[in-house]
Amino acid sequence: MEPDETGLLPVPVSALEHYIYCPRQCALIHVEQVFEENIWTLRGRRVHDKAHDGPTETQNGVRVERGLPLWSERLGLTGMADVVEFDGDVPFPVEYKHGKRKEGLFNDVQLCAQALCLEEMLGVEVGRGAIYHHSSRRRRVVEFTPELRALTEKTVADVREMLTKQEVPPPVNDERCEECSLWDACLPEREHLPKQEELYTAILPSP
Ligand code: SF4
Repeated sequence: MEPDETGLLPVPVSALEHYIYCPRQCALIHVEQVFEENIWTLRGRRVHDKAHDGPTETQNGVRVERGLPLWSERLGLTGMADVVEFDGDVPFPVEYKHGKRKEGLFNDVQLCAQALCLEEMLGVEVGRGAIYHHSSRRRRVVEFTPELRALTEKTVADVREMLTKQEVPPPVNDERCEECSLWDACLPEREHLPKQEELYTAILPSP
C-alpha cells in the first residue's frame, strides 16, 4: 500500500483489532497477506455479510445505514461500518461479532476508530457505540472515553509503523493462539524454539 496524498500510509480500521489481539496476527494478514479460513472466520463473515446487506431503513424514528464507508484524513484510516444508527444527526456505530464477548479491548478500539472517522466525516461528536454479539443476541455499549480514544490513536500509529517497516513480530504463544485462524501459518510453538544456530552457539565452546 502506498501513502495517500496527505503522505500518510492508509491503515485499515480492521487492522487495529488484529493488532490489539496479537501484533503478529496483524502483520501476517496486513504485511504478508496471509489469510486462512476456519469455522470462526466463516461464521464471522456470514454475520458481517448479513449486517451489511439490506437497504437503509428507519425503525422507531432511528435511521439505520448498513455497510457505510468510513475514512479519516487526519489519522489516515479507511474502513467500513457494519451498521450506523442515526438518532437525529448523531451517529451510533454498531459492530457485529459472531461469538460471545472476549476479554480485551480489541473490539472497543475498532469501534472507537469507526467513531473517530464518523466525527471527522460528519462534524459531530460521537460519544458511544455498541458491539452486537450474534451468539447471545446482546449489545454491549462502549463509551468513547479519552483513554480509549488515546489508545486507538496510538494503535493507528503503531500499525502504520509496522506496515511501513514491513515487520512481522514474534509469536505471543499463549491462550490467544487457541482460537487463532492463522495458527498453521504462524506455528507459534515452532517459532518459539531457539534457532539451530542459537543452539549451536549455546553448546559449543567459543573459539
Ligand atoms: S497463532 Fe498466536 S502468535 Fe500466531 S498470530 Fe495467532 S495469536 Fe498470534
